[in-house]
Amino acid sequence: MAKKRIVLTFPPELVDQPIIYRLVKDYDLVPNILRAQVTPKEEGKMVLELEGGKEGINKGLKYLEDIKVDVQPLAKDIKLDEQECTSCGACIAVCSPKALSMNKESWKLEFDRNRCLLCGLCVLACPLGVIQVEFE
Ligand code: SF4
Ligand code: SF4
Repeated sequence: MAKKRIVLTFPPELVDQPIIYRLVKDYDLVPNILRAQVTPKEEGKMVLELEGGKEGINKGLKYLEDIKVDVQPLAKDIKLDEQECTSCGACIAVCSPKALSMNKESWKLEFDRNRCLLCGLCVLACPLGVIQVEFE
């Protein structure tokens, strides 16, 4: 048995589709949803651990790719260099689970690790490169 941890990004038109059911039924996979942010008619994100045979995992990933679900490897950790961060707020807009926010009193960026899906989008959004992602 193999395991793979991935981050799925669903376009709005796929959010209500039985994609996880298909992974179980057609590819004999056991999906373990670690975190999810799914809202009807909006882009959805899901952090998933897939367990199953190697071939089943590869075919399941190909199925996801074919139906236009974006699949990225799961980051292990997100590191934010608070000394270098200027609290410009550019990363907040891309963080749909609202793990990044601005403290309205201090006007400093705040990072709520418990809300973070480890999707890595903030890394690309930061113009100063002060957010780093570690992969497993
Ligand atoms: S990786 Fe960044 S953008 Fe993604 S949820 Fe965590 S803080 Fe937000
Ligand atoms: S984009 Fe970078 S510099 Fe700006 S608030 Fe986010 S982490 Fe800080």
